[in-house]
Amino acid sequence: MLQIYDTKSRQLVAVPAADPVKIYACGPTVYRSVHLGNLRSFLLPDLLRAALASGGQAAVVVQNITDVGHMVDDTGLEAVDPDQDKMLRQAAQEKISALAIARKYEAQYLADLTALNVTIPEQTPRASETIDSMLEIISRLIELDFAYQAEDGSVFFSAKKFPSYGAISGNTLDQLKPGHKFDGEAETTKRFHGDWALWKATDERRTQLTWETPWGTGFPGWHIECTAMSLGAFGDQIDIHTGGIDLRFPHHENERAQSNSLTGAEVVSSWVHAEHLLFEGRKMSKSTNNVVLLTDVMAAGISAAAVRLVFLENHYRQQLNLTWDSLVAAEQTIRRWSDQLTGPLNFDAELKTEISAHLLNNIDTAAAVLALRAKEKQLAKSPELRANAIATAAGLLGLSLVSEPIEVTAELKKLIDERSSARAEKNWQLSDKIRDQIAEFGFEVNDTSSGVQLRRAIVPPRA
Ligand code: AMP
Ligand code: ZN
Repeated sequence: MLQIYDTKSRQLVAVPAADPVKIYACGPTVYRSVHLGNLRSFLLPDLLRAALASGGQAAVVVQNITDVGHMVDDTGLEAVDPDQDKMLRQAAQEKISALAIARKYEAQYLADLTALNVTIPEQTPRASETIDSMLEIISRLIELDFAYQAEDGSVFFSAKKFPSYGAISGNTLDQLKPGHKFDGEAETTKRFHGDWALWKATDERRTQLTWETPWGTGFPGWHIECTAMSLGAFGDQIDIHTGGIDLRFPHHENERAQSNSLTGAEVVSSWVHAEHLLFEGRKMSKSTNNVVLLTDVMAAGISAAAVRLVFLENHYRQQLNLTWDSLVAAEQTIRRWSDQLTGPLNFDAELKTEISAHLLNNIDTAAAVLALRAKEKQLAKSPELRANAIATAAGLLGLSLVSEPIEVTAELKKLIDERSSARAEKNWQLSDKIRDQIAEFGFEVNDTSSGVQLRRAIVPPRA
């Protein structure tokens, strides 16, 4: 059975015997491409799925698409002012509607998941299509006296009405000083500094992504979206809720306060958070101008499988300092493994047992990869058994070892043929010259026992 670290109880807990296990994952805000840091957090539900499968349990993953409401980058400045709203700003910049922006980046996000060999969540509800249930929940929270409408028309959750506020992050209300930007709101009319907006009143300056409600025109707060979409999918019980570590507070505290107050139950059994990704020593974020996309990595000749491998080599609860060097090394490993998968393959039952045990121990993917590396060494002289081990581990860890097909243009084909002729004539000087010409196309050639192998050249950008 899977043991997992629960942020709230600060200990390893056993995942219930449920089948399927219900997982809610906080999803992307779709006003821009997700970066590798985001993707590290978004890999977590897939790793949970793999770990559960090791123990014979299925998972149902629901991941929201935030296409309205959470309009901020890393600054925390939630914007009622449309000029400050990231989605509307991006829409103006790209000269398309805000919803067109949302759909464009949602599609990119799903393509990134597919490239990383992540199973697409069973449901990906969109905030903009869940407004009705948000309105119902907000009305109910007002009725139950957990929420109130302030003078400007916005509706706030009353933090003090939820005594166990802060249980996930340790940020209790007494510790939070007035002036702390809980939700980054600009001037508001809330009663207590710890309260946050469920619904934000807006005015005619905002022309897109607003809804008419009993409390006037406005748009939802970010936290209520996740309450509506998680309860909408699972009712009042969710086994595991995931997100990046920075979502512990305020997002998950606020979501927990809302969902528990509404249902009268502890909705989420375990809160699981992925640590941050640094890149070349600095946190990856837009605000620090340190963003690398999956497509940037792939353009450097490094596969998405290599990215997944580096993520796996580092436990999800540890900060990971990704570098171009580590990505190149991972790509070389992926190529080495994929080169060995020739001929019929059999399952390596011993390695499967070992890797499953690591996955069931708080998703210890780092130990699982080391187990494969050890086995590879141990089987140095047995290529067939080694191939079995590699294929078995790759299957369990979701590493796709099938190289992307390369489109060989007529020009490239001509160079390859000329090089083969030069080699046949033992004209090494010419063959080396043609190799360099092929490199200019972004490819490298290797001569193997089964013929010429063409691969993408690995060309990481250098600072
Ligand atoms: P957002 O789309 O901005 O709402 O955030 C997407 C997810 O990415 C959240 O779960 C964040 O916690 C996570 N995230 C943001 N930056 C990083 C980073 N550098 N490393 C890991 N996760 C991150
Ligand atoms: Zn969320």
